Amino acid sequence: MSATLIDGASVAASLNERIADLASTFAKRTGRKPGLSVCIVGDDPASAVYVRAKEKRASNAGFESRVLRQSASLSQAELLETINALNAEESTDGILVQLPLPPGLQERAIIEAIDPRKDVDGFHTENSGKLLCGIEDGFVPCTPFGCLHLLHHHFAQQGDSLAGKRALVLGRSNIVGKPMALLLLAEHASVTIAHSRTRDLPALCREAEVLVAAVGRANFVQGDWIRQGAVVVDVGINREEGKLTGDVDFSEAQKRAAAITPVPGGVGPMTIAMLLWNTLTAAHRRSGLPPPRLQAEQD
Ligand code: NAP
Repeated sequence: MSATLIDGASVAASLNERIADLASTFAKRTGRKPGLSVCIVGDDPASAVYVRAKEKRASNAGFESRVLRQSASLSQAELLETINALNAEESTDGILVQLPLPPGLQERAIIEAIDPRKDVDGFHTENSGKLLCGIEDGFVPCTPFGCLHLLHHHFAQQGDSLAGKRALVLGRSNIVGKPMALLLLAEHASVTIAHSRTRDLPALCREAEVLVAAVGRANFVQGDWIRQGAVVVDVGINREEGKLTGDVDFSEAQKRAAAITPVPGGVGPMTIAMLLWNTLTAAHRRSGLPPPRLQAEQD
């Protein structure tokens, strides 16, 4: 038996269409487009590719999309000044600072300088705290938010839900693993978090009905670690001989899983869609309008 593919590209495409419709309605009501400002510092080639993709998707969806490209020699004080200017700018609803920053710049201090109401990456501690406490007026980091959306989509199609499922999140970064675990917990899954110090990882994986892999190692999760009938979300983006590969050995895992996300075409396309969703949400909140609900998309 071969697993069902969870087609992130098509789920993201339909969400992007909905976002474009909502952005157009927002613009008619307020006389302005939702605004996203992205700061990129230095010339990291991977970051440049991600930022171009974000810029293009945002303008395709009818957003005011701006990229501030700055040299790697930018000082901490100069970057803070840029952030402060964007915090004050009426037309900017969402601010994103592309990570990693060049050496010498302190990422945490920069993230904390972003107005939490414009922190559409959801990395500010105020937004992390809201996620922890289940307060819904914050922002959820885009990649785990996208994974959750894919899981909702999959389980809704099966007439099932995450409630009560045994979930394993492999990885504990602030960007993916930890927020993913909190989101699954909020959906009433029983969540385990694994990391590099975890003992007997294969046995732990074999218990998981839902497995989210965010390790950053190509084909790390072996096929026989997958529980029969599990739902597998592969967050990994690894480059091997010029080819993109996930963290899960896809060809072996799909023989045991009930459903699995491919790499590419799984979680990746969802990340930018959720960034636009968060920006649209920020725009509504800042204009005193009720933000759209994602649930309508899943029904
Ligand atoms: P990260 O910060 O490097 O975290 C990796 C996590 O994996 C850490 O918690 C680490 O454990 C754990 N780990 C590493 N080696 C391990 C091992 N041998 N056994 C068990 N756990 C191990 O990475 P990240 O930012 O979370 O990203 C993870 C992956 O997702 C990367 O491939 C990244 O490119 C990808 N990603 C994709 C998207 C997307 O849009 N699709 C977005 C973000 C990230 P310790 O904490 O113990 O070190």
